[in-house]
Amino acid sequence: MILTNFSRIEGAVDTQLLHDTHVVAVGAGGAYCLYDSLVRSGIGKLTVLDFDSVDDTNIVRQGYESHQIGQKKVDALGEHLKKVNEGTEYTGITKNFLNMHQDELDEIFGEGDIFLFLTDSFRAQRFGNILALHYGKPAIWGGFYEKSRCAEIVFTIPAVTPACFRCAVSPRYAAQDAAEEEITVSSGCNTIFHSQLLDSYIGMLVYAILHNQVPGYEFSNWFGDYWDRNLIQIKVHPEYSNGENNLFRRVFAPTEGRAFNFNAIWQKIEEECPPKYPHCGDCAGTGNLLNSKGKQFPELPPF
Ligand SMILES: [Zn+2]
Repeated sequence: MILTNFSRIEGAVDTQLLHDTHVVAVGAGGAYCLYDSLVRSGIGKLTVLDFDSVDDTNIVRQGYESHQIGQKKVDALGEHLKKVNEGTEYTGITKNFLNMHQDELDEIFGEGDIFLFLTDSFRAQRFGNILALHYGKPAIWGGFYEKSRCAEIVFTIPAVTPACFRCAVSPRYAAQDAAEEEITVSSGCNTIFHSQLLDSYIGMLVYAILHNQVPGYEFSNWFGDYWDRNLIQIKVHPEYSNGENNLFRRVFAPTEGRAFNFNAIWQKIEEECPPKYPHCGDCAGTGNLLNSKGKQFPELPPF
């Protein structure tokens, strides 16, 4: 059926705005519940790219069902979403976006209002940064690290956030560039509740970004003057890195013993010594790819 009664979420969000929004997302794994929830919220269009198939490990951690083993994930996801709300125009794409020609990318990403890069592949995440900068669209990256003890989200909004994804996670780029093989962000020890926790954060950020310029709703102007804090780290295990220099320990030291888990740190990516921004290969520290040494659509470096 087509969902029409959104009365219980009106006031929180502009349901017409959600209906007019096209979300383009990469990764149909841990984000299954996020897509389910966006479709229940009445998102007008959802395009999901993923070339994997459903296997038996996915039933444990994601929303897929046993009878869907062997199906392409985007097809199995589409089957489910159709049962939730036929009002969302869903498109599942099984091609790897890293191998697409620019006209294909234009067709898919050029039409999107917000991009989500929810994949363990760092190569895909960094290409996502180039796409977000190139098309000038808001974007969100999310994932876990250290046996899923900590989650990390980066979001970018053109002309609002001063740092791009590459600026925000520059140490990861440096580690990858020094490695001989692609580094994949581990999703080990990651239960379905880990995924749902991150999905909830990202879903609320989608609402907040969409309502950034739309007054009158609970998600309007969600972060006030703090939109420049676009690197979020969420501690999801009490014993996560309790070393002296651990960021959570430093930030929450005065309340240690009470604020010890499920807390989040929102970091502003500031110039450091040595400065990061001038060295950002994607945006040259401007948050705008077009200012980056005249490059318009650079090739990814080989891994
Ligand atoms: Zn940058």
